[in-house]
Amino acid sequence: MIERLPFLFWPRRQILTTLIFHRVLPLNDPLRPGEPDSARFEQLMGFVSKNFSVLPFPEAVDRLQTGTLLPRRACCITFDDGYADNLTIALPILEKYQLPATVFIATGYLDGGRMFNDAVVDAIALAKKETLDLREINLGVFPLVTLEEKRIAIDDILNCIKFSPPEQRERQVAVILEVADCGSLPSNIMLTSQQVRELSSSGIEIGGHTVAHTILTTLDDDRALEEITTGKHQLEAITGKPVTSFAYPNGKPGRDYTEHHVPLVKQAGFARAVSTAPGVGERDSDLFQLPRFSPWGATRLHKAWQLTRNARGGLFEQPRVSHKQNGR
Ligand SMILES: [Zn+2]
Repeated sequence: MIERLPFLFWPRRQILTTLIFHRVLPLNDPLRPGEPDSARFEQLMGFVSKNFSVLPFPEAVDRLQTGTLLPRRACCITFDDGYADNLTIALPILEKYQLPATVFIATGYLDGGRMFNDAVVDAIALAKKETLDLREINLGVFPLVTLEEKRIAIDDILNCIKFSPPEQRERQVAVILEVADCGSLPSNIMLTSQQVRELSSSGIEIGGHTVAHTILTTLDDDRALEEITTGKHQLEAITGKPVTSFAYPNGKPGRDYTEHHVPLVKQAGFARAVSTAPGVGERDSDLFQLPRFSPWGATRLHKAWQLTRNARGGLFEQPRVSHKQNGR
């Protein structure tokens, strides 16, 4: 009963809370402060299973559309990008609590790939130098002695290169890896095709997230449609199932994609899509731009308060810096 008290102010109308995650780490990583470790994820899933009705994403969106069938505190669980730990660490916890989930995968990084943000974090974590001199790519000089200095370097570099065109960003990352003198980086952090099949056959929904995770507003329409469609077809070939849900790369409406991209997602054959804007889905929401949110509070009360504020709209707490870093 006490656990339910924090939700006294939950809205009475039909709403859908969709949680967003990327990685679930085996242990806490101070250079990835926005990513839960397995203990924190398990604690959150325990909290969610006690206080929410968790539904498969397609079913929840169908019910939202009809407007009468969503349980109170309806919730979906989603992961973006396609990390191997979604299978190795998150799945056993989801299964323990019998929670359905969707994993949105950028197919270009399957089977040994690495996203630019992980390349930067790992390069700095493994750098053999006390200073990272990136003046040749106009990023400045970063001291790397303390943990705080490494965090600042990661945030500053990611913020600078996040919106570079893909080819330019590839060159920037190559220079960072060379200058950091970090040796070879781990090559097993993203899912393999076989692991995608395992996730799919264990009941996890596989969703599209483009091929290269390129921010759609940086592409012309033809390339944007190709990214959206090719990713879908590749996942369908891997899983042998239709892929009907989509997540916009980076996902911030108006910046990472616009209203203009919604018809392209429909044209590619998707039936629903999510952004990374905070808030909840409602009956009159655009089902191709459903918002998502995850609480990060340590206590049950804090998590309940954050989720209630998100559900009531308008009064959002400022995300932590680490959430900005990981908003992708
Ligand atoms: Zn992403």
